[in-house]
Amino acid sequence: MTSDRTGEGNLRRVVAAVLADDTAERREAALLELTAADLEAVMHARFETAGAALARGLGASPGAAVGAVYFTAADAADAADRGEAVILVRNETTPADVHGMMVAAGLLTTRGGLVSHAALVARGWGTPAVVGAEAIVIDGRTFAVGDVVVSEGDVISIDGSSGEVTLGERGTASTGLPEEFFTALGWADEVRRDRLAVRANADTAADAAKARELGADGIGLCRTEHMFLSPDRLPIMRAMILARTPEDERAALAELGDVQEVDFAAILAAMDGLPVTVRLLDPPLHEFLPAVLDLEMKRAADGLSPEEQRELDAAREWAEHNPMIGTRGVRLAVLKPGLYAMQVRALLAAARSVRADGGHPIVEIMVPLTVSRPELALVRSWVAAEVAELSLSQVDQADITIGTMIETPRAALRAGELAHDADFFSFGTNDLTQLTFGFSRDDVERRMMPAYLEHGLLASNPFDTIDTDGVGELVREGTRRGRATKPELRVGVCGEHGGDPASIRLFLDAGLDSVSCSPYRVPVARLAAAQAVIERQNGPG
Ligand code: PEP
Ligand code: MG
Repeated sequence: MTSDRTGEGNLRRVVAAVLADDTAERREAALLELTAADLEAVMHARFETAGAALARGLGASPGAAVGAVYFTAADAADAADRGEAVILVRNETTPADVHGMMVAAGLLTTRGGLVSHAALVARGWGTPAVVGAEAIVIDGRTFAVGDVVVSEGDVISIDGSSGEVTLGERGTASTGLPEEFFTALGWADEVRRDRLAVRANADTAADAAKARELGADGIGLCRTEHMFLSPDRLPIMRAMILARTPEDERAALAELGDVQEVDFAAILAAMDGLPVTVRLLDPPLHEFLPAVLDLEMKRAADGLSPEEQRELDAAREWAEHNPMIGTRGVRLAVLKPGLYAMQVRALLAAARSVRADGGHPIVEIMVPLTVSRPELALVRSWVAAEVAELSLSQVDQADITIGTMIETPRAALRAGELAHDADFFSFGTNDLTQLTFGFSRDDVERRMMPAYLEHGLLASNPFDTIDTDGVGELVREGTRRGRATKPELRVGVCGEHGGDPASIRLFLDAGLDSVSCSPYRVPVARLAAAQAVIERQNGPG
């Protein structure tokens, strides 16, 4: 029997035992007996048959996937159009790969860790993914592991839980969600709902609907950049970046605003009556441009069109040595102030139209990467100007709040100051971990992390489970300092740790109001939050 089947059996047995003699105490005992693995066993397709692993990476997004390998997003998209099941194989993915990732049955990367782009996107969509499978060497349209060569179109199987990659097709079994799943989570909600809300990180109306189905209490992080990456949106974003005159920039921004308003309205409608935290644009601009190297190679091979030459110039201009600590987040907004104003305008207009249709949108506008109060105050003034411009009624305004992510050690230390201009905080523990340790989230999980874990230099991967003594201390202290200024300050977390059971315990103890994680982790987070509440009330005090 596989462990997945054991998980399903556990779930059925534990719930049935309570139903035979249902009391509040027995429900709580049952919740403590269940594990994340029990829930995950019924949520994702699994392999029925064993296979000899060709390679191993990190299981970054659970589930079993079988498909033909393709090595570029464009080839993956073409194969999916022909009806093929596809496994997209890349060294690592970037936002430019999103259209191929979207259609893939599974993702396999040779580099990167649990918070790499591929891992984050896959978990958000519930797509099985194995990342950092270092033994795999990609060469054009083939990959090799030792002597074994796998070519484009060959079928492989990947297990996003164990990280195993197998040659050929392994039989899968997908399970419908059993009644016991909903029963147990209903019990969990009764215990934790007033103590710790569980929201989802969702960027589209489809994600929002999925999150709601899986029991999310709202959206804790809508990463708006994903709205600009689809093939129909990217050219408008590039037109904004390449604009030579303020008029051209304004025109591109207006066009972006129109598409974004439609997206926001759909998300707010899908989450009607529940809070939606929309994060203003965060990534550095070069992520929306083709890679410098690709354009240089094309120039050498076939030459560039004038448009491509301008893209190359812009890509060079925006390239940075350390983009993750460069011109991104609110810093980018300071350089291109029209950007946030456009996003806020689109969001407010969307909220207004949802309300006009009889809905009740609850909007939280969130500023990324803030490090000081003046930065936050500046963005707040832009939002206030847009609110005034749209002449929103008092009723509409009551449902619009403004807050900041706490993603840098400085922001956590200066939380008392930031709280003056924030209605809420959300700890971005992916960046906060990266910046507290000085561990590049895109690089260290590949080589350094396994060695550190092996030598016992770290108890666990801090990108997976929150580092209690360092990053956890900043979360506790940031919350305390923020609330010292503003006792009613709402505080949440929206890094990947929001879906990790051990981290959820720390967030509850730190006094957070909510956690937010990928939609497919919401059930596990609901269970873990209930367990943390029960353990705390049973604990020594
Ligand atoms: C974070 O840094 O924790 C976060 C949620 O933002 P992102 O992962 O998009 O940088
Ligand atoms: Mg971040």
